Amino acid sequence: MILDHHPFNINDVGHLAIGGIDAVGLSEKYGTPLYVYDVSLIRANCRRFVETFEALGVRAQVAYASKAFSSVAMLQVIKQEGLSLDVVSQGELYTALQAQFPVDRIHMHGNNKSANELEMAIDYDIGCIVVDNFHEIELINEILQRKNKTMDVLMRVTPGIQPNTHQYIVTGNEDSKFGFNLADGQADEAFLQLQNSENIHFKGLHSHIGSQLFETDAFVLAAKVLFRKLADWHAEYHYSPDVLNLGGGFGIRYTEGDQPLDYSTHVKELTAVVQEQAAYFNMPLPEIWIEPGRAIAGNAGVTLYTVGSIKEIPGVRNYVSVDGGMTDNIRPALYHAKYEGVLANKAGKTATDTVSIAGKCCESGDMLMWDLPVPAVESDDILAVFSTGAYGYSMASHYNRFPKAAVVFVENGRDQLVIKRETYHDVVKNDISYE
Ligand SMILES: *Cc1c(COP(=O)(O)O)cnc(C)c1O
Repeated sequence: MILDHHPFNINDVGHLAIGGIDAVGLSEKYGTPLYVYDVSLIRANCRRFVETFEALGVRAQVAYASKAFSSVAMLQVIKQEGLSLDVVSQGELYTALQAQFPVDRIHMHGNNKSANELEMAIDYDIGCIVVDNFHEIELINEILQRKNKTMDVLMRVTPGIQPNTHQYIVTGNEDSKFGFNLADGQADEAFLQLQNSENIHFKGLHSHIGSQLFETDAFVLAAKVLFRKLADWHAEYHYSPDVLNLGGGFGIRYTEGDQPLDYSTHVKELTAVVQEQAAYFNMPLPEIWIEPGRAIAGNAGVTLYTVGSIKEIPGVRNYVSVDGGMTDNIRPALYHAKYEGVLANKAGKTATDTVSIAGKCCESGDMLMWDLPVPAVESDDILAVFSTGAYGYSMASHYNRFPKAAVVFVENGRDQLVIKRETYHDVVKNDISYE
């Protein structure tokens, strides 16, 4: 049963319930496609990380990587849960300011931050900029000097950690657009520039090694690689970092085959390696920062669609088309991401058929799921796709001039619209007639 491994139930009329609310009722009230978030799951995910650090008694910041799903309502929940926040653009920073997110807990990322973006971050006195390259160091120094201000900065490095079959290995030179290379002296050069800047407070290192990781081993390896570099700087310049940021990438369950670790296990193992390395090199324990995105928002989100046309190709495949697709969830088309779902109005019925779910965009690649077991499907059934809370709405597009779908939050038996469905007026609002 697909519902056995997703955090939702069947209600007494045999429909899918999301946070206790009938999904079919939500589809009638708000229309489809519709993103629905169970806010209690978002909160539980946040608390798992935060409370484990608290129980361990170590100083830490859990920063939600808002690119996974950013909206005013979402950031209000993240603020209530006491997390910090990562932004990678002026638009994400602007959204955080609209949500009145505490500026000192906002961190800015990006491999090509513009002078405008950096100036906005500096004007609002955000907590930290994660510097990515030499050009950016120059820009930050110039802005800080001109404004006579200071800024906390972390240095993003590429520790060269890559998956090698079932193990992670350290490669000397990582081929990545992000960060300073540790192996070839770039990070050492950046260290001197940051340390010698009067306006920059260099707080420590950052690395983000990947996404959808099911084991802690890659993080442990990254921590060791970072400490080796920090130990060099400690020996040579008596430098000790205030912060070690190990990034995000904690894996979640999309399908039955995915076996994510409990987030508290990640936190315990990361903390253990940082404690061990700091003790080994005789350095003070830095504050540990992590940046989960998908792990906060992913499993809390469900997308509801209405089934339209059904095309049966005997002996080949049955295509069931829904009223959304790659415009609201590009991940299957972009990188063959796998999902599971159920018919929300037939959630209590046994699966008898196998169908593939097609989006309605004019692209053969616009498929949402292959070979989904379902009870007999009919037009107007409501399809619910699980674990769409991360990189769904945030990657949505207007391809084929589809208006963007609406987002609803449910919590404590209540549902509330938090992002309006776009109208056709929204679709053409920036168009200018050619005279
Ligand atoms: C994308 C990203 C994250 C979040 O990744 P998830 O896989 O969603 O946890 C965290 N930190 C940085 C720097 C990122 O680019």
